[in-house]
Amino acid sequence: MAQSKAAENLIRLKCSVCGEMNYYTRKNKKQVERKLGYVKYCSSCRKRTAHKEAKLK
Ligand SMILES: [Zn+2]
Repeated sequence: MAQSKAAENLIRLKCSVCGEMNYYTRKNKKQVERKLGYVKYCSSCRKRTAHKEAKLK
């Protein structure tokens, strides 16, 4: 049961340029209600791009 609860907070960070899922992170939905966004290095684009959160399926 504890595992499924942890998975609820797990999100992917998706490259907004190529759509590659490069990073995984967690967030506390009770504390962070807005969408997360980070500028991170994408190995597919070979440069730093904006990564936005995407839901795990
Ligand atoms: Zn990319």
